[in-house]
Amino acid sequence: MIRKKKKILMILSGIMITLGACVNQESGLPRGKNTIEVQNVEEGEETATSTVMADENITPTTNIEEMVTLSQTIKIEENITVTPVITEEIKIEEKDEVVQKYKIAIDAGHQQKGNSEQEAIGPGATETKAKVASGTTGVSTGIPEYQLTLEVAKKLEAELINRGYEVIMIRESHDVNISNAERAEIANNSGADIFIRIHANGSENQSVSGILTISPTKNNPYCSQIFAESRELSEEILNAMVEETGAINKGVMETDTMSGINWCEIPVSIVEMGFMSNPKEDELMQTEEYQKKLVKGMADGIDSFFN
Ligand SMILES: [Zn+2]
Repeated sequence: MIRKKKKILMILSGIMITLGACVNQESGLPRGKNTIEVQNVEEGEETATSTVMADENITPTTNIEEMVTLSQTIKIEENITVTPVITEEIKIEEKDEVVQKYKIAIDAGHQQKGNSEQEAIGPGATETKAKVASGTTGVSTGIPEYQLTLEVAKKLEAELINRGYEVIMIRESHDVNISNAERAEIANNSGADIFIRIHANGSENQSVSGILTISPTKNNPYCSQIFAESRELSEEILNAMVEETGAINKGVMETDTMSGINWCEIPVSIVEMGFMSNPKEDELMQTEEYQKKLVKGMADGIDSFFN
Protein backbone atom coordinates (compact mmCIF):
# COMPACT_ATOMS: atom_id res chain seq x y z
CA MET A 1 0.00 0.00 0.00
CA ILE A 2 1.29 3.42 -0.89
CA ARG A 3 0.01 6.31 1.13
CA LYS A 4 0.51 9.91 0.17
CA LYS A 5 2.32 11.78 2.90
CA LYS A 6 0.82 15.20 3.21
CA LYS A 7 2.39 18.15 4.87
CA ILE A 8 0.12 21.00 5.82
CA LEU A 9 1.57 24.41 5.29
CA MET A 10 -0.15 27.60 6.21
CA ILE A 11 0.22 30.90 4.55
CA LEU A 12 0.31 33.63 7.11
CA SER A 13 -0.83 36.78 5.50
CA GLY A 14 -0.51 38.65 8.73
CA ILE A 15 0.50 38.34 12.31
CA MET A 16 -0.82 40.13 15.32
CA ILE A 17 1.82 41.34 17.65
CA THR A 18 0.78 41.75 21.24
CA LEU A 19 3.23 43.65 23.30
CA GLY A 20 4.20 42.29 26.65
CA ALA A 21 4.26 44.27 29.87
CA CYS A 22 7.92 45.16 29.64
CA VAL A 23 7.56 46.84 26.29
CA ASN A 24 6.69 50.48 26.07
CA GLN A 25 2.98 50.46 25.33
CA GLU A 26 3.11 53.93 23.89
CA SER A 27 5.58 53.33 21.13
CA GLY A 28 5.50 49.61 20.73
CA LEU A 29 8.37 48.50 18.58
CA PRO A 30 10.90 51.09 17.51
CA ARG A 31 9.77 53.03 14.48
CA GLY A 32 11.01 51.91 11.13
CA LYS A 33 12.01 48.49 10.07
CA ASN A 34 12.30 45.77 12.64
CA THR A 35 13.40 42.33 11.75
CA ILE A 36 11.75 39.71 13.84
CA GLU A 37 12.41 36.05 13.93
CA VAL A 38 9.32 33.98 14.21
CA GLN A 39 10.00 30.81 16.07
CA ASN A 40 8.03 27.71 16.54
CA VAL A 41 7.77 27.50 20.27
CA GLU A 42 7.31 23.77 20.42
CA GLU A 43 10.06 22.85 18.07
CA GLY A 44 12.33 25.74 18.97
CA GLU A 45 13.15 26.04 15.30
CA GLU A 46 13.33 29.21 13.38
CA THR A 47 10.72 28.92 10.69
CA ALA A 48 10.38 32.39 9.25
CA THR A 49 11.83 35.83 9.34
CA SER A 50 9.78 38.87 8.64
CA THR A 51 10.12 42.60 8.59
CA VAL A 52 7.76 44.54 10.76
CA MET A 53 6.95 48.09 9.91
CA ALA A 54 6.13 49.72 13.18
CA ASP A 55 4.28 53.01 13.26
CA GLU A 56 2.38 54.85 15.92
CA ASN A 57 0.03 51.95 16.44
CA ILE A 58 0.51 50.11 19.64
CA THR A 59 -0.19 46.78 18.02
CA PRO A 60 1.40 46.81 14.60
CA THR A 61 0.56 44.10 12.15
CA THR A 62 2.75 42.85 9.44
CA ASN A 63 2.68 40.62 6.45
CA ILE A 64 4.61 37.46 6.29
CA GLU A 65 4.83 36.25 2.76
CA GLU A 66 6.80 33.22 3.63
CA MET A 67 4.98 30.02 4.13
CA VAL A 68 5.66 28.76 7.56
CA THR A 69 4.67 25.63 9.33
CA LEU A 70 3.14 27.16 12.37
CA SER A 71 -0.10 26.24 13.92
CA GLN A 72 0.05 27.71 17.34
CA THR A 73 0.81 30.93 19.04
CA ILE A 74 4.41 31.81 18.62
CA LYS A 75 6.78 33.97 20.55
CA ILE A 76 9.51 36.29 19.35
CA GLU A 77 10.79 37.25 22.71
CA GLU A 78 9.53 36.65 26.17
CA ASN A 79 7.51 39.79 26.23
CA ILE A 80 6.14 39.84 22.73
CA THR A 81 3.59 37.35 21.55
CA VAL A 82 2.86 36.90 17.91
CA THR A 83 -0.35 35.23 16.87
CA PRO A 84 -0.49 34.02 13.30
CA VAL A 85 -3.48 35.07 11.27
CA ILE A 86 -4.11 32.09 9.10
CA THR A 87 -5.88 32.97 5.91
CA GLU A 88 -5.23 29.95 3.85
CA GLU A 89 -4.36 26.38 4.49
CA ILE A 90 -2.85 24.47 1.66
CA LYS A 91 -2.04 20.84 1.54
CA ILE A 92 1.11 20.06 -0.26
CA GLU A 93 1.96 16.55 -1.23
CA GLU A 94 5.56 16.26 -0.25
CA LYS A 95 6.30 12.86 -1.68
CA ASP A 96 4.90 9.41 -1.82
CA GLU A 97 5.78 7.72 1.37
CA VAL A 98 5.71 4.02 0.86
CA VAL A 99 4.08 2.73 3.98
CA GLN A 100 3.21 -0.68 2.70
CA LYS A 101 3.43 -1.72 -0.93
CA TYR A 102 0.71 -3.52 -2.84
CA LYS A 103 1.80 -7.03 -3.70
CA ILE A 104 0.99 -8.56 -7.05
CA ALA A 105 1.13 -12.29 -7.73
CA ILE A 106 1.89 -13.08 -11.37
CA ASP A 107 1.39 -16.45 -12.95
CA ALA A 108 2.89 -17.14 -16.33
CA GLY A 109 0.31 -19.56 -17.71
CA HIS A 110 1.18 -23.22 -18.39
CA GLN A 111 4.58 -24.92 -18.23
CA GLN A 112 6.89 -26.93 -20.44
CA LYS A 113 4.88 -30.12 -20.02
CA GLY A 114 1.15 -30.17 -19.33
CA ASN A 115 -0.09 -32.39 -16.51
CA SER A 116 -3.25 -34.35 -17.27
CA GLU A 117 -3.63 -35.65 -13.71
CA GLN A 118 -6.96 -34.48 -12.34
CA GLU A 119 -7.75 -32.05 -9.54
CA ALA A 120 -11.01 -30.57 -8.18
CA ILE A 121 -12.00 -27.44 -10.07
CA GLY A 122 -12.68 -25.65 -6.79
CA PRO A 123 -12.76 -26.17 -3.02
CA GLY A 124 -15.26 -28.98 -2.30
CA ALA A 125 -15.97 -29.61 -5.98
CA THR A 126 -16.57 -33.11 -7.29
CA GLU A 127 -15.89 -31.98 -10.85
CA THR A 128 -12.25 -32.33 -11.86
CA LYS A 129 -9.97 -30.96 -14.53
CA ALA A 130 -6.41 -31.51 -15.73
CA LYS A 131 -3.87 -29.98 -13.34
CA VAL A 132 -2.28 -27.92 -16.12
CA ALA A 133 -3.26 -27.86 -19.78
CA SER A 134 -0.43 -27.73 -22.27
CA GLY A 135 -1.56 -24.44 -23.77
CA THR A 136 -1.64 -23.26 -27.34
CA THR A 137 1.10 -22.64 -29.92
CA GLY A 138 1.75 -19.78 -32.29
CA VAL A 139 0.29 -20.71 -35.68
CA SER A 140 2.90 -18.65 -37.48
CA THR A 141 5.86 -18.55 -35.09
CA GLY A 142 5.50 -22.08 -33.69
CA ILE A 143 6.33 -20.66 -30.27
CA PRO A 144 4.50 -22.35 -27.37
CA GLU A 145 2.21 -20.31 -25.12
CA TYR A 146 4.22 -21.13 -21.97
CA GLN A 147 7.25 -19.36 -23.44
CA LEU A 148 5.35 -16.23 -24.41
CA THR A 149 3.56 -16.04 -21.04
CA LEU A 150 6.78 -16.22 -19.03
CA GLU A 151 8.54 -13.71 -21.26
CA VAL A 152 5.74 -11.18 -20.78
CA ALA A 153 5.33 -12.07 -17.09
CA LYS A 154 8.98 -11.21 -16.41
CA LYS A 155 8.57 -7.87 -18.17
CA LEU A 156 5.43 -7.16 -16.16
CA GLU A 157 7.34 -8.04 -12.99
CA ALA A 158 10.05 -5.48 -13.83
CA GLU A 159 7.50 -2.81 -14.74
CA LEU A 160 5.49 -3.30 -11.54
CA ILE A 161 8.61 -3.23 -9.34
CA ASN A 162 9.57 -0.04 -11.15
CA ARG A 163 6.18 1.41 -10.23
CA GLY A 164 6.65 0.58 -6.55
CA TYR A 165 4.83 -2.73 -6.27
CA GLU A 166 6.04 -5.93 -4.70
CA VAL A 167 5.79 -8.92 -6.98
CA ILE A 168 5.63 -12.64 -6.42
CA MET A 169 6.22 -14.85 -9.43
CA ILE A 170 4.46 -18.21 -9.38
CA ARG A 171 7.01 -19.62 -11.80
CA GLU A 172 10.27 -18.29 -13.22
CA SER A 173 11.28 -21.20 -15.40
CA HIS A 174 9.56 -23.57 -17.81
CA ASP A 175 10.57 -26.81 -16.14
CA VAL A 176 8.08 -26.76 -13.27
CA ASN A 177 5.07 -28.83 -12.33
CA ILE A 178 2.57 -26.61 -10.56
CA SER A 179 -1.15 -27.25 -10.97
CA ASN A 180 -3.64 -24.43 -11.48
CA ALA A 181 -5.10 -24.97 -8.00
CA GLU A 182 -1.60 -24.90 -6.52
CA ARG A 183 -0.84 -21.67 -8.35
CA ALA A 184 -3.91 -20.09 -6.78
CA GLU A 185 -2.90 -21.41 -3.35
CA ILE A 186 0.59 -19.97 -3.72
CA ALA A 187 -0.95 -16.61 -4.61
CA ASN A 188 -3.40 -16.84 -1.67
CA ASN A 189 -0.64 -17.63 0.80
CA SER A 190 1.84 -15.09 -0.52
CA GLY A 191 0.09 -12.12 1.01
CA ALA A 192 -0.54 -10.76 -2.49
CA ASP A 193 -3.38 -8.27 -2.95
CA ILE A 194 -4.29 -9.46 -6.45
CA PHE A 195 -3.46 -12.33 -8.80
CA ILE A 196 -2.72 -11.80 -12.50
CA ARG A 197 -2.70 -14.90 -14.69
CA ILE A 198 -1.06 -14.33 -18.06
CA HIS A 199 -2.23 -16.39 -21.02
CA ALA A 200 -2.62 -16.22 -24.79
CA ASN A 201 -5.65 -17.41 -26.67
CA GLY A 202 -6.35 -19.88 -29.44
CA SER A 203 -9.29 -20.28 -31.81
CA GLU A 204 -10.16 -22.59 -34.68
CA ASN A 205 -10.99 -19.47 -36.63
CA GLN A 206 -7.65 -17.89 -37.57
CA SER A 207 -9.24 -14.53 -38.29
CA VAL A 208 -10.24 -14.02 -34.65
CA SER A 209 -7.97 -11.61 -32.76
CA GLY A 210 -7.99 -9.29 -29.76
CA ILE A 211 -7.62 -9.12 -26.02
CA LEU A 212 -9.96 -10.45 -23.36
CA THR A 213 -9.80 -10.87 -19.61
CA ILE A 214 -11.54 -13.44 -17.45
CA SER A 215 -13.19 -13.15 -14.05
CA PRO A 216 -15.44 -15.48 -12.04
CA THR A 217 -19.23 -14.98 -12.22
CA LYS A 218 -21.29 -13.31 -9.52
CA ASN A 219 -22.70 -16.69 -8.49
CA ASN A 220 -19.45 -18.62 -8.54
CA PRO A 221 -19.97 -21.49 -6.05
CA TYR A 222 -16.36 -21.31 -4.79
CA CYS A 223 -15.24 -17.70 -4.76
CA SER A 224 -18.22 -15.36 -5.20
CA GLN A 225 -16.71 -13.12 -2.52
CA ILE A 226 -14.01 -12.03 -4.95
CA PHE A 227 -16.37 -11.54 -7.91
CA ALA A 228 -16.85 -7.76 -7.71
CA GLU A 229 -13.18 -6.93 -7.34
CA SER A 230 -12.09 -9.54 -9.89
CA ARG A 231 -14.58 -8.14 -12.39
CA GLU A 232 -13.33 -4.60 -11.76
CA LEU A 233 -9.70 -5.67 -12.03
CA SER A 234 -10.48 -7.48 -15.30
CA GLU A 235 -12.20 -4.40 -16.71
CA GLU A 236 -9.41 -2.02 -15.72
CA ILE A 237 -6.72 -4.24 -17.22
CA LEU A 238 -8.67 -4.91 -20.41
CA ASN A 239 -9.47 -1.25 -21.02
CA ALA A 240 -5.92 -0.09 -20.40
CA MET A 241 -4.46 -2.82 -22.63
CA VAL A 242 -6.85 -2.06 -25.48
CA GLU A 243 -6.09 1.63 -25.20
CA GLU A 244 -2.36 0.96 -25.26
CA THR A 245 -2.26 -1.61 -28.05
CA GLY A 246 -5.22 -0.69 -30.23
CA ALA A 247 -6.19 -4.38 -30.27
CA ILE A 248 -9.79 -5.54 -30.61
CA ASN A 249 -11.66 -5.45 -27.29
CA LYS A 250 -13.10 -8.94 -26.76
CA GLY A 251 -14.59 -7.96 -23.42
CA VAL A 252 -14.50 -9.47 -19.96
CA MET A 253 -15.50 -13.10 -19.97
CA GLU A 254 -17.09 -14.48 -16.82
CA THR A 255 -16.74 -18.18 -16.14
CA ASP A 256 -16.67 -20.59 -13.22
CA THR A 257 -14.79 -23.32 -15.07
CA MET A 258 -11.24 -22.16 -14.27
CA SER A 259 -9.59 -24.01 -11.36
CA GLY A 260 -6.96 -21.28 -11.09
CA ILE A 261 -9.74 -18.76 -10.45
CA ASN A 262 -12.05 -20.95 -8.34
CA TRP A 263 -9.33 -21.71 -5.79
CA CYS A 264 -8.52 -18.00 -5.45
CA GLU A 265 -9.19 -16.01 -2.32
CA ILE A 266 -7.85 -12.73 -3.69
CA PRO A 267 -9.10 -10.69 -6.69
CA VAL A 268 -7.96 -12.45 -9.85
CA SER A 269 -7.93 -11.90 -13.58
CA ILE A 270 -6.82 -14.07 -16.44
CA VAL A 271 -5.35 -11.94 -19.21
CA GLU A 272 -5.67 -13.45 -22.66
CA MET A 273 -3.19 -11.15 -24.43
CA GLY A 274 -4.09 -12.12 -27.95
CA PHE A 275 -4.75 -15.04 -30.28
CA MET A 276 -1.76 -17.21 -31.16
CA SER A 277 -4.06 -18.79 -33.75
CA ASN A 278 -4.14 -15.50 -35.64
CA PRO A 279 -0.93 -15.31 -37.70
CA LYS A 280 -0.66 -11.55 -37.46
CA GLU A 281 -1.33 -11.33 -33.73
CA ASP A 282 0.93 -14.32 -33.07
CA GLU A 283 3.83 -12.54 -34.75
CA LEU A 284 2.96 -9.22 -33.16
CA MET A 285 3.02 -10.74 -29.67
CA GLN A 286 6.60 -11.85 -30.25
CA THR A 287 7.84 -8.33 -30.91
CA GLU A 288 9.57 -6.28 -28.25
CA GLU A 289 7.50 -3.23 -29.09
CA TYR A 290 4.12 -4.95 -28.76
CA GLN A 291 5.12 -6.76 -25.56
CA LYS A 292 6.03 -3.37 -24.11
CA LYS A 293 2.54 -2.12 -24.91
CA LEU A 294 0.90 -5.22 -23.43
CA VAL A 295 2.92 -4.79 -20.23
CA LYS A 296 2.27 -1.06 -19.97
CA GLY A 297 -1.45 -1.70 -20.45
CA MET A 298 -1.53 -4.36 -17.74
CA ALA A 299 0.42 -2.15 -15.32
CA ASP A 300 -1.80 0.86 -16.08
CA GLY A 301 -4.87 -1.27 -15.42
CA ILE A 302 -3.42 -2.45 -12.11
CA ASP A 303 -2.65 1.17 -11.17
CA SER A 304 -6.25 2.12 -11.99
CA PHE A 305 -7.57 -0.74 -9.89
CA PHE A 306 -5.74 0.48 -6.80
CA ASN A 307 -6.42 4.19 -7.34
ZN1 LIG B 1 -3.47 -20.51 -21.65
